[in-house]
Amino acid sequence: MSYSAFALLKNALSGNRGWKPVWREPEPKAHYDTIVVGGGGHGLATAYYLAKEHGITDVAVVEKGYLGSGNVGRNTTIIRSNYLLPDNTRFYEWSLKLWEGLEQDINYNAMVSQRGVLNLAHTDAQRDAYARRGNAMRIAGADADLLTREEIRAMVPLLAMDDARFPVKAGLLQRRGGTVRHDAVAWGYARAADQRGVDLLQNCEVIGIRVENGAVKGVETTRGFIGARRVALAAAGHSSRVAEMAGLRLPLESHVLQAFVSEGVKPVLDQVVTFGAGHFYISQSDKGGLVFGGDIDGYASYAQRGSLPIVEDVMECAMALFPSFSRLRYLRQWGGVMDMSMDGSPIIGTTPISGLFLNCGWCYGGFKATPASGWCFAWTIAKGEPHALNAGFRLDRFATGHVIDEKGAGAQANLH
Ligand SMILES: Cc1cc2nc3c(=O)[nH]c(=O)nc-3n(C[C@H](O)[C@H](O)[C@H](O)COP(=O)(O)OP(=O)(O)OC[C@H]3O[C@@H](n4cnc5c(N)ncnc54)[C@H](O)[C@@H]3O)c2cc1C
Repeated sequence: MSYSAFALLKNALSGNRGWKPVWREPEPKAHYDTIVVGGGGHGLATAYYLAKEHGITDVAVVEKGYLGSGNVGRNTTIIRSNYLLPDNTRFYEWSLKLWEGLEQDINYNAMVSQRGVLNLAHTDAQRDAYARRGNAMRIAGADADLLTREEIRAMVPLLAMDDARFPVKAGLLQRRGGTVRHDAVAWGYARAADQRGVDLLQNCEVIGIRVENGAVKGVETTRGFIGARRVALAAAGHSSRVAEMAGLRLPLESHVLQAFVSEGVKPVLDQVVTFGAGHFYISQSDKGGLVFGGDIDGYASYAQRGSLPIVEDVMECAMALFPSFSRLRYLRQWGGVMDMSMDGSPIIGTTPISGLFLNCGWCYGGFKATPASGWCFAWTIAKGEPHALNAGFRLDRFATGHVIDEKGAGAQANLH
């Protein structure tokens, strides 16, 4: 299916009845070379890069609901590579580079908008920490600018600067950071994977993983057993439940993270802005709604819904930064289940079970990782060992003490 100007015009003139489904609905085969569990951004990207980069097309993505029904369609759409530690900066910078070429690569408009991500500093110590992080980013090839208070005032006029509860001292700006339309990412990767021969199996829940003599043999699903030489888990917030089916206990906790959207207004905020004195971040969608979020709910849960204490917390932070937004009505709120790792960094790698691969631990920020996660996971599956970019994200780092601790597990607004 092509989205040329001609196709748009032709379908507009015929009541838009000529569009066809953009991916097939195949029946599961008895056996695949590789099964990817989870039809979110990471699972779909993995299948696409397996086919594109490694020529592995005998692949099924097995999804319990519909494609994109998980966190990939629930997040606040922010992309960036503003990390301090080399493992993270290199990986997320590669992701940002893949985002920059993604729409051409998969021939799909994902509305990649490099509008800039601005982290606010409210103390001298925080400004120093941001200067250090900006330098680390530049060394790793990412862009970073330390802004003065006056530069921020000019850039974000509605920000409370003068009588603010938390005065703004400086800000770290990554101009290449921004937002991407999240569900378009799922659809774009799904279509591109399907075109390369990948089977996308929706409404097909994995309920067991068959392991014999230390090697994976396939998955039990609600549509029957499906055999496979390799099984790759990309189930995000449900990773610990799925891995448990193979007898693996993961260093993860599942928590709900919520997002909020206000009524639509004229353009008032050009960048993504994060608060440095609390857990809050905000941007304005192309439809005009302000999109914002905060911290996870501290109560571990698999329930995909919001809770009132988080509303109070997020609104309080919003008012501290943008008092004028108190006049807006907020329209919608929803939750997604996050796979929180114990050092705030992801896990992409092999497992002690032959043929079983693991991709999880995305905490607050797995959306921006989607292209690099899929790319690195596909490499790891194809070669049987990690790429240099994800070598540090191995599962056994929690046992060996090689954690990659950005302090991402706590209240760090900069980590969205
Ligand atoms: C409110 C909110 C805001 C966020 N904001 C940002 C942000 O601004 N920037 C950012 O980078 N990240 C953000 N994130 C995080 C990001 O969305 C996730 O880290 C990322 O989407 C996880 O990867 P995924 O897309 O593959 O997950 P998902 O889309 O959740 O995919 C996992 C899939 O696995 C499926 N599945 C689970 N169990 C099974 C099973 N047994 N059998 C078959 N299928 C199964 C699920 O149905 C799901 O579709 C946010 C998340 C939330 C909830």
